[in-house]
Amino acid sequence: PKTLRLILGDQLNHKHSWYNGDQDHIVYFMAEMRQETDYVKHHIQKVVAFFMAMRGFKEWMDDRGFENVYYQLDHKDNQQDLVDNLNALIEKHSIEKFEYLAPDEWRLDQQLKDFCESLEIEWQGYDTEHFLTKRMDVKKFFEGKKRLTMEYFYRDMRKKYDIMIEGDKEPEGGKWNYDQSNRKKWDEKTPIPHERGFRKDVSEIIELLEKEGVATFGRIDETNFNWPTTRQDALDVLNYFCENLLEHFGDFQDAMHTDQDYLFHSRLSFAMNSKLLSPMEVIETAVDRFRESEKTNNPIHISQIEGFIRQILGWREFMRGIYWKEMPDYQHRNELENRNKLPDFYWTGETKMNCLKHSINNSLDNAYAHHIQRLMITGNYALLTMTDPNYVDEWYLGVYIDAIEWVEITNTRGMSQWADGGLVATKPYVSSGSYINKMSNYCKGCAYQVNKKKAEDDACPFNSLYWHFLDEKEVHFSNNQRMNMMMALLKKMDPDLLKAHKNKAEKVINSPEDY
Ligand code: FAD
Ligand code: SF4
Repeated sequence: PKTLRLILGDQLNHKHSWYNGDQDHIVYFMAEMRQETDYVKHHIQKVVAFFMAMRGFKEWMDDRGFENVYYQLDHKDNQQDLVDNLNALIEKHSIEKFEYLAPDEWRLDQQLKDFCESLEIEWQGYDTEHFLTKRMDVKKFFEGKKRLTMEYFYRDMRKKYDIMIEGDKEPEGGKWNYDQSNRKKWDEKTPIPHERGFRKDVSEIIELLEKEGVATFGRIDETNFNWPTTRQDALDVLNYFCENLLEHFGDFQDAMHTDQDYLFHSRLSFAMNSKLLSPMEVIETAVDRFRESEKTNNPIHISQIEGFIRQILGWREFMRGIYWKEMPDYQHRNELENRNKLPDFYWTGETKMNCLKHSINNSLDNAYAHHIQRLMITGNYALLTMTDPNYVDEWYLGVYIDAIEWVEITNTRGMSQWADGGLVATKPYVSSGSYINKMSNYCKGCAYQVNKKKAEDDACPFNSLYWHFLDEKEVHFSNNQRMNMMMALLKKMDPDLLKAHKNKAEKVINSPEDY
C-alpha cells in the first residue's frame, strides 16, 4: 500500500531500520510547524538547531533517493498543525497506510494516538530504535520498591549491556560509582583545548522566523552558529570530546568558572536528543578511547569514564522512564506549593548576583549551561525563592538547546525543584553560597560577600534564602534523614538571626530586581 511515514524533528535517526527496507510506495514527511515553535517560547538557537538538523536530514533522504515531502515554515501547503497537515497529505497523495515513530513527548503521543483513532486507513507505530530501555522498563524495574534509586537501575543497565563489567557481574575497577572523586573545582591550569567550531551561517532561518513572526528569546551570532546539526557534525563533537575532554570529565564535572562556558562537558545532548547520535554509540566510542589510553603512558582514570557513562546509561534512561511512569500527572506536581514568579532577570541576565549572572548569560548566549549551573545556580535560586514550578519549567523548556519535555521536566520539576516530593531526588538540591564558592570562582567577582552569614545588606543572598527556605518548608523535610543535619542546625539557630535571614529573604523574593 502507498504509505506515509512521519518523522518528527527529534527523530533524526539515520540508522533506523526504516531506511534499510524496501522504499517502494513510501513517502516520508517532515514539517517545520507553528505547533512546535509556539508551544513554549524557545531560545532562538534551539529553533534554528532543530530546523537545520531537519533540513540536513531531508538532504540525506534526497541523496538516497527517498521520496519525501518537506514543509518549511512558510510552505504554501503548511497548515502549521500536525494533524491538519497529515490529513491533507493523506488525501492529496491517496495514502493507504500511515506509519509513525513513537514520540518521546506525552503531548505528541496523545495527538498521534487520537489522530490514528480517527483514521479510516491502516496505521502502524514503530520504535525509534534509539533508547536502551522501553518506555515502561523503569516502572517495571522499581515495581514494589519504596524508593526509585537511580544507582540500582544504573548497575542493572551496566550488567545488561555489559559495559565495563568484569567476571561475574562485578564493576571494572571494583567500584560502581566514583561520584566522590568527581567534585573538584577547576584548577585554572588543566588546559581545555579550543574547539574548531562549525561557524555556520544561519541568517536564512533567522530571517524566516522573523518574517513569520515566531517569538523567540536569547542571543545568536547568525554567521557563527556552533551546534552540531548533521550526523557528521555530531560525530566530530563526539570524537573531539573523547580525544580532548574525557580524560578530565569526571574530575571537573561539577566545577563552574566565569571564563569557561563548557569546561569538560561534551555538548552532546542536542545530538543525542534529536537522535543524530545513539546513546550506545556515544558510550562505545568513549569506552574505546578509554581502552586505547590504557595502552599508553597516560591512561584515562576509570573515574572519568565511569562518570560519563553513568550520565547516559543511568540518568538519561532513568529520567525517560520516570517520565513515562509519571505522566501526565507529573506536569502538575507542586509538592511544596510554591507560587512565586520567576524573576525577570532569568530572561535578561541582569542581576548583581555573579553566579546567576554568568549562568543565565551563558544560557542566553549559547542555549546551554552545564548540569551544575542548571541545578545549583538557576535551579537552586528558583527553589529557594519558592518559584512556581510552572514558571521554572517554562524557562528551562524554552532556553536549552537540548530541552525536550521528557528530559527537561524530570530534571526541572523532579531533580531540581523537588516538586514530585522526592521521587527523583531524595533531598532537595538547595545550598547556601558556600557550595557555590567551593565549586566556582563566581564569588570572587560578586557584589555580595559569600562569607557574611548574618543577613547583612551586602551578604550573599543565597545564605538568607537558604535558611528561610528550610524554615518555611520544614514540615516536608523534618522526617528526611538526609536533611537531619541541616534541620538540626536550623533548630539551633539564634531566633533573632533566623528572623533577620527571613526578613532579608522576603526582600529578595519580593524585589529580585534590586539584587
Ligand atoms: P555532559 O555533562 O557532557 O553529559 C553527557 C550526557 O549525559 C548529556 O549529553 C546527557 O545526554 C546525559 N545527561 C547528563 N545528565 C543528565 C540528566 N540529569 N538527565 C538526563 N541526561 C543527562 N538535559 C537534557 O538533555 N535536556 C534538558 O532539557 C535538560 N534540562 C535540565 C534541567 C535541569 C534543571 C537540570 C538540573 C538538568 C537538565 N538536563 C537536561 C540534564 C543535563 O544538565 C544536560 O543533559 C547536560 O547539561 C547537557 O550538556 P552536555 O551534553 O555537555 O552533558
Ligand atoms: Fe552567588 Fe552569593 Fe557567590 Fe555572589 S556571593 S556569586 S550571589 S553565591
